Amino acid sequence: MSTDEDRERLAAQLVALPVRELVDVLRRVLPHFTEDRYGLRTTLTLAAVTDYEDEPGLDMELVAWPDRDYYDGGLGIDQGLWENGRCARCDVEVTSNAKRAFCPYCGSGCALT
Ligand SMILES: [Zn+2]
Repeated sequence: MSTDEDRERLAAQLVALPVRELVDVLRRVLPHFTEDRYGLRTTLTLAAVTDYEDEPGLDMELVAWPDRDYYDGGLGIDQGLWENGRCARCDVEVTSNAKRAFCPYCGSGCALT
């Protein structure tokens, strides 16, 4: 069990990271909270949510994990979450800093532009 101070210290470390490094940390953490029950699979993911002023509702994209093998162990270009696409398997919008990434829900490769 952690204290408030422990969690605050961890949060301060995470806030200091560039977004692609934060995503890489969460890639290692969030899948551990996946639950399979009664035939349903629920997993925690990171999402980017945008409110376009001239459109109703919110636009939501799951943040895809960069394909580290494709980037020789790196995380892809450090540009923020500017690449967009769709997971062909889940039929969900995804975003990433990288053009080659994996869907955070099903793990399928996604080609983003
Ligand atoms: Zn998917």
